[in-house]
Amino acid sequence: MKAPRQNHPLKDYNTFGLNVTANQFYQVDTIEELSEAIKNIKSEKMQHLILGGGSNILFTSNYNGAIIHPSIDGVETIDDNEKYILLRVGAGVEWDSLVEQTVSMGLCGLENLSLIPGKVGAAPIQNIGAYGVEAKDSIEKVDGIFIDTLEHFSLNNAECKFGYRNSVFKNKLKGKVVVTHVTFRLSKECNLVTHYGNLEVEIDKLGSKTLQNVRQAVINIRNAKLPDPKEFGNAGSFFKNPVVDIALVEALQEKYTHVPFYPVNDNLVKLPAGWLIEKSGWKGKRVGNVGVHKDQALVIVNFGNATGQEIVELAHQVRQSIMEMFNVSLEMEVNVV
Ligand SMILES: Cc1cc2nc3c(=O)[nH]c(=O)nc-3n(C[C@H](O)[C@H](O)[C@H](O)COP(=O)(O)OP(=O)(O)OC[C@H]3O[C@@H](n4cnc5c(N)ncnc54)[C@H](O)[C@@H]3O)c2cc1C
Repeated sequence: MKAPRQNHPLKDYNTFGLNVTANQFYQVDTIEELSEAIKNIKSEKMQHLILGGGSNILFTSNYNGAIIHPSIDGVETIDDNEKYILLRVGAGVEWDSLVEQTVSMGLCGLENLSLIPGKVGAAPIQNIGAYGVEAKDSIEKVDGIFIDTLEHFSLNNAECKFGYRNSVFKNKLKGKVVVTHVTFRLSKECNLVTHYGNLEVEIDKLGSKTLQNVRQAVINIRNAKLPDPKEFGNAGSFFKNPVVDIALVEALQEKYTHVPFYPVNDNLVKLPAGWLIEKSGWKGKRVGNVGVHKDQALVIVNFGNATGQEIVELAHQVRQSIMEMFNVSLEMEVNVV
């Protein structure tokens, strides 16, 4: 079996750019290598962590254990008919290269999720989403192995229990499985979703409403408004948009007449966390090596040599302000390790 790398630097494996190491680092290219790595880790009784592209992880210290980095490759067509194609994709495939490939094949479903960093294996974990579309809308099934028994599993869409930035993999199966493949059902008959934010406006600038132009418009908007992790380390949205009781919004409206919100059901609404953070005065504020991005209140950035602890402390201060001002509890979207 492939020996793990020892005391492995993780700076290039987390988009916050944190200078941390892991005792052991297993890069696994096949299911067999993955099983061998798990056996090894268990025999050494080490704690372990599955790491994709590290774009949704915050390391607060060196990782005292073994990292498994699934690099399983491949995009395989397993069904192709008049209406749709089923593509089985390895967990190690770069998410945006999959989106680029499917759009160039004229297949619809992933275009709004263009330019999201990370690997395919992580997409179902938090059910990635952007511009009115979520990964769950195109996921047919998720395959992987149970860490405890090394048995294979295959969960269909309903069994994945997808929700807003949520799935069974963040709940009942948290830390218990490694995703090895994700199968996507991509449509040949496009029903383009363009109502979200200023997507229509950006598409108009490019010309007609085509699949390729939706992808390009999303790329243009994201490039204009999101900080590039290569310049300022970050993990995208640090917090989830909180879902609260409508009664709370009615109470807030007495003080803030223009509170934006989106109905979830008759009793619950979603509040934009970015608006809450901006109102609390944190947008653009810097504390030492870390800060809240000047254009994107949801994004916490590493200005250089920050530690994970500094980022966590800033996040706690932001959460505290939001609780004091709005009586709203902000939940982190980023996985703190
Ligand atoms: C600039 C920027 C913009 C972003 N924009 C968006 C956005 O628009 N929408 C959105 O939803 N997210 C966004 N994100 C967050 C991030 O890109 C996604 O969550 C992405 O899916 C994470 O992929 P990853 O491979 O980097 O996962 P990692 O960060 O490596 O891991 C994330 C979690 O998944 C687990 N995991 C990873 N791979 C596997 C596997 N194969 N099996 C089991 N568990 C696994 C990890 O243990 C961890 O808990 C953004 C991040 C950045 C930096």
